[in-house]
Amino acid sequence: MNYRHTLNKSKEFSNLALKHIEQAGLLYIPYNYELWYTYYSKSHNELNRAIDILKESDHDITDERCYELHQRFLSQASENSRVQEAGVQITDTISEMTGRVHDVKSMAENYGEALENAAQSFSDSDNIDPQSIKETLNNVLDNTNDMIKHNAELEKELERSSSMMEELKRDLEKVRKQALTDGLTNLANRKAFDDEIERVHAEATKQGQVFTIIILDIDHFKSFNDNYGHQVGDQVLRLVAKTLTDGVKGRDMAARYGGEEFALILPDTNLSGGTKVADSLRKNVQGKELINRNNGEVLGRITMSGGVAEYSVGESIDQLIERADNALYSAKHNGRNQISSAKAPK
Ligand code: GH3
Ligand code: MG
Ligand code: MG
Repeated sequence: MNYRHTLNKSKEFSNLALKHIEQAGLLYIPYNYELWYTYYSKSHNELNRAIDILKESDHDITDERCYELHQRFLSQASENSRVQEAGVQITDTISEMTGRVHDVKSMAENYGEALENAAQSFSDSDNIDPQSIKETLNNVLDNTNDMIKHNAELEKELERSSSMMEELKRDLEKVRKQALTDGLTNLANRKAFDDEIERVHAEATKQGQVFTIIILDIDHFKSFNDNYGHQVGDQVLRLVAKTLTDGVKGRDMAARYGGEEFALILPDTNLSGGTKVADSLRKNVQGKELINRNNGEVLGRITMSGGVAEYSVGESIDQLIERADNALYSAKHNGRNQISSAKAPK
Protein backbone atom coordinates (compact mmCIF):
# COMPACT_ATOMS: atom_id res chain seq x y z
CA MET A 1 0.00 0.00 0.00
CA ASN A 2 1.29 3.45 -0.91
CA TYR A 3 0.43 6.34 1.34
CA ARG A 4 1.82 9.37 -0.44
CA HIS A 5 0.16 12.24 1.33
CA THR A 6 1.33 15.63 2.47
CA LEU A 7 1.93 16.19 6.15
CA ASN A 8 -1.35 18.06 6.51
CA LYS A 9 -3.34 15.45 4.64
CA SER A 10 -1.85 12.56 6.60
CA LYS A 11 -2.63 14.43 9.83
CA GLU A 12 -6.21 14.90 8.68
CA PHE A 13 -6.64 11.19 7.82
CA SER A 14 -4.99 10.17 11.05
CA ASN A 15 -7.37 12.36 13.06
CA LEU A 16 -10.39 11.00 11.18
CA ALA A 17 -9.23 7.43 11.79
CA LEU A 18 -8.70 7.99 15.52
CA LYS A 19 -12.00 9.84 15.85
CA HIS A 20 -13.77 6.95 14.17
CA ILE A 21 -12.08 4.39 16.42
CA GLU A 22 -13.15 6.37 19.46
CA GLN A 23 -16.73 6.97 18.36
CA ALA A 24 -17.28 3.38 17.28
CA GLY A 25 -15.80 2.11 20.56
CA LEU A 26 -13.16 0.12 18.71
CA LEU A 27 -9.82 -1.02 20.07
CA TYR A 28 -6.86 1.33 19.66
CA ILE A 29 -4.78 -1.30 18.00
CA PRO A 30 -2.56 -1.03 14.90
CA TYR A 31 -4.77 -2.95 12.50
CA ASN A 32 -7.80 -0.80 13.30
CA TYR A 33 -5.74 2.34 12.80
CA GLU A 34 -4.36 1.12 9.48
CA LEU A 35 -7.82 0.11 8.32
CA TRP A 36 -9.46 3.46 9.08
CA TYR A 37 -6.52 5.53 7.92
CA THR A 38 -6.67 3.67 4.62
CA TYR A 39 -10.41 4.19 4.46
CA TYR A 40 -10.31 7.94 5.09
CA SER A 41 -7.38 8.47 2.74
CA LYS A 42 -9.24 6.49 0.05
CA SER A 43 -6.08 4.54 -0.70
CA HIS A 44 -7.77 1.22 -1.46
CA ASN A 45 -10.90 1.29 -3.64
CA GLU A 46 -12.16 -2.19 -2.85
CA LEU A 47 -11.73 -1.67 0.88
CA ASN A 48 -13.71 1.58 0.71
CA ARG A 49 -16.43 -0.11 -1.30
CA ALA A 50 -16.70 -2.96 1.22
CA ILE A 51 -16.89 -0.56 4.17
CA ASP A 52 -19.43 1.69 2.41
CA ILE A 53 -21.65 -1.29 1.69
CA LEU A 54 -21.52 -2.31 5.36
CA LYS A 55 -22.28 1.27 6.43
CA GLU A 56 -25.17 1.62 4.00
CA SER A 57 -26.74 -1.59 5.21
CA ASP A 58 -26.42 -0.32 8.79
CA HIS A 59 -24.04 -3.10 9.78
CA ASP A 60 -22.06 -2.53 12.93
CA ILE A 61 -18.38 -2.56 12.01
CA THR A 62 -17.09 -4.28 15.14
CA ASP A 63 -13.50 -5.15 16.04
CA GLU A 64 -14.07 -8.57 14.54
CA ARG A 65 -15.30 -7.09 11.26
CA CYS A 66 -12.32 -4.71 11.26
CA TYR A 67 -9.99 -7.64 11.76
CA GLU A 68 -11.64 -9.51 8.91
CA LEU A 69 -11.47 -6.46 6.61
CA HIS A 70 -7.84 -5.93 7.50
CA GLN A 71 -7.04 -9.57 6.80
CA ARG A 72 -8.90 -9.47 3.52
CA PHE A 73 -7.63 -6.19 2.09
CA LEU A 74 -4.54 -5.01 3.92
CA SER A 75 -2.39 -7.80 5.30
CA GLN A 76 -2.80 -9.39 1.91
CA ALA A 77 -1.87 -6.16 0.10
CA SER A 78 1.51 -5.79 1.77
CA GLU A 79 2.30 -9.44 1.19
CA ASN A 80 1.23 -9.18 -2.43
CA SER A 81 3.61 -6.31 -2.99
CA ARG A 82 6.46 -8.35 -1.45
CA VAL A 83 5.61 -11.23 -3.74
CA GLN A 84 5.52 -8.84 -6.70
CA GLU A 85 8.92 -7.47 -5.73
CA ALA A 86 10.36 -10.96 -5.59
CA GLY A 87 8.77 -11.65 -8.98
CA VAL A 88 10.49 -8.58 -10.47
CA GLN A 89 13.83 -9.70 -9.05
CA ILE A 90 13.40 -13.18 -10.48
CA THR A 91 12.50 -11.78 -13.90
CA ASP A 92 15.54 -9.45 -13.79
CA THR A 93 17.86 -12.29 -12.84
CA ILE A 94 16.50 -14.52 -15.57
CA SER A 95 16.80 -11.87 -18.28
CA GLU A 96 20.32 -10.99 -17.12
CA MET A 97 21.33 -14.63 -17.30
CA THR A 98 19.68 -15.09 -20.68
CA GLY A 99 21.71 -12.12 -21.93
CA ARG A 100 24.91 -13.64 -20.57
CA VAL A 101 24.18 -17.00 -22.12
CA HIS A 102 23.62 -15.23 -25.46
CA ASP A 103 26.99 -13.46 -25.17
CA VAL A 104 28.77 -16.67 -24.35
CA LYS A 105 27.04 -18.48 -27.18
CA SER A 106 28.13 -15.92 -29.75
CA MET A 107 31.64 -15.94 -28.24
CA ALA A 108 31.78 -19.71 -28.58
CA GLU A 109 30.70 -19.36 -32.20
CA ASN A 110 33.46 -16.83 -32.84
CA TYR A 111 35.91 -19.12 -31.13
CA GLY A 112 34.80 -22.03 -33.30
CA GLU A 113 35.27 -19.86 -36.35
CA ALA A 114 38.75 -18.80 -35.26
CA LEU A 115 39.74 -22.45 -34.74
CA GLU A 116 38.38 -23.37 -38.12
CA ASN A 117 40.28 -20.54 -39.77
CA ALA A 118 43.46 -21.68 -38.08
CA ALA A 119 42.96 -25.26 -39.24
CA GLN A 120 42.18 -23.97 -42.72
CA SER A 121 45.31 -21.87 -42.84
CA PHE A 122 47.42 -24.93 -41.91
CA SER A 123 45.87 -27.23 -44.45
CA ASP A 124 45.82 -24.62 -47.25
CA SER A 125 49.50 -23.81 -47.21
CA ASP A 126 52.03 -26.29 -48.50
CA ASN A 127 54.96 -24.67 -46.92
CA ILE A 128 54.00 -22.99 -43.71
CA ASP A 129 56.64 -20.68 -42.37
CA PRO A 130 57.35 -20.81 -38.64
CA GLN A 131 56.40 -17.14 -38.20
CA SER A 132 52.85 -17.64 -39.49
CA ILE A 133 52.47 -20.85 -37.43
CA LYS A 134 53.48 -18.87 -34.40
CA GLU A 135 51.00 -16.09 -35.21
CA THR A 136 48.15 -18.49 -35.81
CA LEU A 137 48.88 -20.38 -32.61
CA ASN A 138 49.13 -17.16 -30.63
CA ASN A 139 45.79 -16.15 -32.03
CA VAL A 140 44.22 -19.45 -31.02
CA LEU A 141 45.81 -19.17 -27.60
CA ASP A 142 44.43 -15.64 -27.09
CA ASN A 143 40.98 -16.79 -28.14
CA THR A 144 41.21 -19.78 -25.82
CA ASN A 145 42.27 -17.64 -22.89
CA ASP A 146 39.37 -15.28 -23.57
CA MET A 147 36.98 -18.20 -23.61
CA ILE A 148 38.33 -19.60 -20.34
CA LYS A 149 38.04 -16.19 -18.69
CA HIS A 150 34.49 -15.71 -19.89
CA ASN A 151 33.45 -19.17 -18.85
CA ALA A 152 34.87 -18.62 -15.39
CA GLU A 153 32.95 -15.34 -15.14
CA LEU A 154 29.78 -16.97 -16.33
CA GLU A 155 30.20 -19.78 -13.83
CA LYS A 156 30.57 -17.25 -11.02
CA GLU A 157 27.53 -15.35 -12.19
CA LEU A 158 25.49 -18.53 -12.42
CA GLU A 159 26.51 -19.39 -8.91
CA ARG A 160 25.52 -15.95 -7.68
CA SER A 161 22.16 -16.11 -9.44
CA SER A 162 21.42 -19.56 -8.19
CA SER A 163 22.08 -18.56 -4.59
CA MET A 164 19.98 -15.44 -5.13
CA MET A 165 17.16 -17.59 -6.48
CA GLU A 166 17.49 -19.85 -3.44
CA GLU A 167 17.20 -16.81 -1.20
CA LEU A 168 14.16 -15.54 -3.10
CA LYS A 169 12.58 -18.96 -2.83
CA ARG A 170 13.04 -18.90 0.95
CA ASP A 171 11.64 -15.33 1.10
CA LEU A 172 8.59 -16.31 -0.91
CA GLU A 173 8.02 -19.30 1.33
CA LYS A 174 8.22 -16.99 4.35
CA VAL A 175 5.77 -14.49 2.84
CA ARG A 176 3.41 -17.30 1.92
CA LYS A 177 3.49 -18.56 5.49
CA GLN A 178 3.00 -15.09 6.91
CA ALA A 179 0.05 -14.50 4.63
CA LEU A 180 -1.66 -17.45 6.27
CA THR A 181 -0.67 -16.75 9.87
CA ASP A 182 -2.28 -14.45 12.40
CA GLY A 183 0.33 -11.99 13.62
CA LEU A 184 -0.87 -11.78 17.22
CA THR A 185 -1.41 -15.43 18.06
CA ASN A 186 0.65 -17.23 15.40
CA LEU A 187 -2.38 -19.39 14.67
CA ALA A 188 -3.65 -19.96 11.15
CA ASN A 189 -5.59 -16.84 10.14
CA ARG A 190 -8.99 -16.38 8.55
CA LYS A 191 -7.61 -16.79 5.04
CA ALA A 192 -5.89 -20.06 5.97
CA PHE A 193 -9.15 -21.24 7.54
CA ASP A 194 -11.14 -20.31 4.42
CA ASP A 195 -8.66 -22.16 2.19
CA GLU A 196 -8.59 -25.24 4.40
CA ILE A 197 -12.33 -25.54 4.85
CA GLU A 198 -12.76 -25.28 1.11
CA ARG A 199 -10.27 -28.10 0.61
CA VAL A 200 -11.76 -30.34 3.33
CA HIS A 201 -15.31 -29.60 2.18
CA ALA A 202 -14.49 -30.51 -1.44
CA GLU A 203 -12.75 -33.70 -0.37
CA ALA A 204 -15.58 -34.73 1.96
CA THR A 205 -18.18 -34.04 -0.73
CA LYS A 206 -16.29 -36.06 -3.30
CA GLN A 207 -15.42 -39.00 -1.10
CA GLY A 208 -18.37 -39.02 1.26
CA GLN A 209 -16.22 -38.37 4.31
CA VAL A 210 -17.30 -36.76 7.53
CA PHE A 211 -15.80 -33.66 9.13
CA THR A 212 -16.73 -31.31 11.91
CA ILE A 213 -16.11 -27.67 12.68
CA ILE A 214 -16.01 -25.87 16.01
CA ILE A 215 -16.42 -22.15 16.61
CA LEU A 216 -15.28 -20.90 20.02
CA ASP A 217 -15.79 -17.42 21.41
CA ILE A 218 -14.37 -16.00 24.65
CA ASP A 219 -17.07 -15.12 27.18
CA HIS A 220 -17.45 -11.49 28.26
CA PHE A 221 -14.15 -10.60 26.73
CA LYS A 222 -15.17 -7.00 26.32
CA SER A 223 -15.43 -6.48 30.05
CA PHE A 224 -12.14 -8.35 30.53
CA ASN A 225 -10.50 -5.87 28.17
CA ASP A 226 -12.21 -2.96 29.88
CA ASN A 227 -11.00 -4.13 33.29
CA TYR A 228 -7.43 -5.02 32.49
CA GLY A 229 -6.58 -3.24 29.24
CA HIS A 230 -6.09 -4.52 25.74
CA GLN A 231 -2.51 -5.56 26.16
CA VAL A 232 -3.54 -8.03 28.83
CA GLY A 233 -6.44 -8.98 26.54
CA ASP A 234 -3.92 -9.71 23.81
CA GLN A 235 -1.92 -11.90 26.20
CA VAL A 236 -5.10 -13.86 26.87
CA LEU A 237 -5.70 -14.32 23.15
CA ARG A 238 -2.19 -15.77 22.86
CA LEU A 239 -2.79 -18.09 25.79
CA VAL A 240 -6.07 -19.33 24.29
CA ALA A 241 -4.33 -19.83 20.95
CA LYS A 242 -1.60 -21.90 22.61
CA THR A 243 -4.20 -23.99 24.47
CA LEU A 244 -5.95 -24.72 21.18
CA THR A 245 -2.72 -25.62 19.38
CA ASP A 246 -1.75 -27.94 22.22
CA GLY A 247 -5.21 -29.51 22.21
CA VAL A 248 -5.46 -30.54 18.57
CA LYS A 249 -3.37 -32.93 16.58
CA GLY A 250 -2.71 -34.42 13.18
CA ARG A 251 -4.70 -32.88 10.36
CA ASP A 252 -6.86 -30.74 12.66
CA MET A 253 -6.59 -27.01 12.14
CA ALA A 254 -7.10 -24.30 14.76
CA ALA A 255 -7.46 -20.77 13.40
CA ARG A 256 -8.16 -17.27 14.65
CA TYR A 257 -11.47 -16.61 13.02
CA GLY A 258 -12.07 -13.05 14.20
CA GLY A 259 -11.09 -10.80 17.13
CA GLU A 260 -11.74 -13.21 20.02
CA GLU A 261 -13.30 -15.99 18.02
CA PHE A 262 -11.52 -19.18 17.05
CA ALA A 263 -12.49 -21.89 14.60
CA LEU A 264 -11.34 -25.46 14.20
CA ILE A 265 -11.66 -27.94 11.38
CA LEU A 266 -11.55 -31.60 12.35
CA PRO A 267 -11.35 -33.95 9.36
CA ASP A 268 -12.67 -37.52 9.81
CA THR A 269 -14.48 -36.50 12.98
CA ASN A 270 -18.20 -36.74 13.69
CA LEU A 271 -20.40 -34.54 15.85
CA SER A 272 -19.87 -36.49 19.04
CA GLY A 273 -16.09 -36.59 18.55
CA GLY A 274 -16.03 -32.87 17.71
CA THR A 275 -18.11 -32.02 20.77
CA LYS A 276 -15.69 -33.94 22.98
CA VAL A 277 -12.73 -32.05 21.51
CA ALA A 278 -14.54 -28.73 21.93
CA ASP A 279 -15.44 -29.49 25.52
CA SER A 280 -11.93 -30.54 26.39
CA LEU A 281 -10.56 -27.31 24.86
CA ARG A 282 -13.13 -25.35 26.84
CA LYS A 283 -12.04 -27.06 30.05
CA ASN A 284 -8.35 -26.53 29.28
CA VAL A 285 -8.93 -22.80 28.80
CA GLN A 286 -10.95 -22.57 31.99
CA GLY A 287 -8.27 -24.53 33.83
CA LYS A 288 -5.64 -21.84 33.33
CA GLU A 289 -5.28 -19.24 36.00
CA LEU A 290 -4.44 -15.92 34.40
CA ILE A 291 -1.64 -13.86 35.84
CA ASN A 292 -0.67 -10.42 34.59
CA ARG A 293 2.90 -10.83 33.43
CA ASN A 294 3.72 -7.21 34.13
CA ASN A 295 2.88 -7.16 37.83
CA GLY A 296 2.03 -10.71 38.89
CA GLU A 297 -1.59 -9.76 39.61
CA VAL A 298 -3.95 -12.74 39.57
CA LEU A 299 -6.66 -12.06 36.99
CA GLY A 300 -8.82 -15.10 37.59
CA ARG A 301 -10.00 -17.28 34.74
CA ILE A 302 -11.70 -16.88 31.42
CA THR A 303 -14.24 -19.15 29.87
CA MET A 304 -15.34 -19.89 26.33
CA SER A 305 -18.52 -20.95 24.64
CA GLY A 306 -18.59 -23.04 21.51
CA GLY A 307 -20.75 -24.33 18.72
CA VAL A 308 -20.04 -27.61 16.91
CA ALA A 309 -21.45 -28.71 13.56
CA GLU A 310 -20.89 -31.87 11.54
CA TYR A 311 -20.87 -31.50 7.77
CA SER A 312 -24.01 -32.81 6.22
CA VAL A 313 -23.43 -34.10 2.69
CA GLY A 314 -24.47 -31.53 0.11
CA GLU A 315 -24.59 -28.45 2.34
CA SER A 316 -22.47 -25.42 1.50
CA ILE A 317 -19.62 -24.12 3.64
CA ASP A 318 -21.70 -21.05 4.53
CA GLN A 319 -24.58 -23.23 5.70
CA LEU A 320 -22.25 -25.35 7.81
CA ILE A 321 -20.66 -22.29 9.42
CA GLU A 322 -24.07 -20.78 10.02
CA ARG A 323 -25.16 -23.91 11.88
CA ALA A 324 -22.02 -23.82 14.04
CA ASP A 325 -22.62 -20.10 14.66
CA ASN A 326 -26.21 -20.74 15.71
CA ALA A 327 -25.05 -23.47 18.08
CA LEU A 328 -22.53 -21.01 19.55
CA TYR A 329 -25.33 -18.54 19.98
CA SER A 330 -27.36 -21.15 21.91
CA ALA A 331 -24.36 -21.87 24.14
CA LYS A 332 -24.10 -18.15 24.94
CA HIS A 333 -27.83 -17.89 25.43
CA ASN A 334 -27.92 -20.88 27.79
CA GLY A 335 -25.42 -19.31 30.18
CA ARG A 336 -21.99 -19.43 28.44
CA ASN A 337 -18.99 -21.62 29.40
CA GLN A 338 -20.48 -24.55 27.51
CA ILE A 339 -20.47 -26.28 24.14
CA SER A 340 -23.59 -26.74 22.08
CA SER A 341 -23.99 -29.12 19.13
CA ALA A 342 -25.75 -27.99 15.99
CA LYS A 343 -28.91 -29.70 14.85
CA ALA A 344 -28.85 -31.46 11.49
CA PRO A 345 -29.87 -29.15 8.63
CA LYS A 346 -33.53 -29.05 7.69
P1 GH3 B 1 -19.81 -12.65 24.74
O1 GH3 B 1 -19.69 -13.48 25.97
O2 GH3 B 1 -21.22 -12.45 24.36
O3 GH3 B 1 -18.99 -13.16 23.63
O4 GH3 B 1 -19.26 -11.21 25.14
P2 GH3 B 1 -17.98 -10.50 24.59
O5 GH3 B 1 -17.75 -9.30 25.44
O6 GH3 B 1 -16.84 -11.44 24.50
O7 GH3 B 1 -18.42 -10.20 23.11
P3 GH3 B 1 -18.31 -8.97 22.15
O8 GH3 B 1 -18.40 -9.50 20.77
O9 GH3 B 1 -19.31 -7.94 22.57
O10 GH3 B 1 -16.87 -8.36 22.37
C1 GH3 B 1 -15.75 -8.89 21.80
C2 GH3 B 1 -14.62 -8.11 22.40
O11 GH3 B 1 -13.38 -8.73 22.09
C3 GH3 B 1 -14.46 -6.72 21.85
C4 GH3 B 1 -13.06 -6.39 22.14
O12 GH3 B 1 -13.00 -5.78 23.43
C5 GH3 B 1 -12.38 -7.75 22.23
N1 GH3 B 1 -11.39 -7.98 21.13
C6 GH3 B 1 -11.61 -8.27 19.85
N2 GH3 B 1 -10.42 -8.34 19.17
C7 GH3 B 1 -9.43 -8.12 20.05
C8 GH3 B 1 -8.00 -8.07 19.99
O13 GH3 B 1 -7.37 -8.28 18.94
N3 GH3 B 1 -7.33 -7.80 21.13
C9 GH3 B 1 -7.99 -7.57 22.32
N4 GH3 B 1 -7.29 -7.31 23.41
N5 GH3 B 1 -9.32 -7.63 22.42
C10 GH3 B 1 -10.05 -7.88 21.33
MG1 MG C 1 -17.26 -12.48 19.60
MG1 MG D 1 -17.00 -13.02 23.13
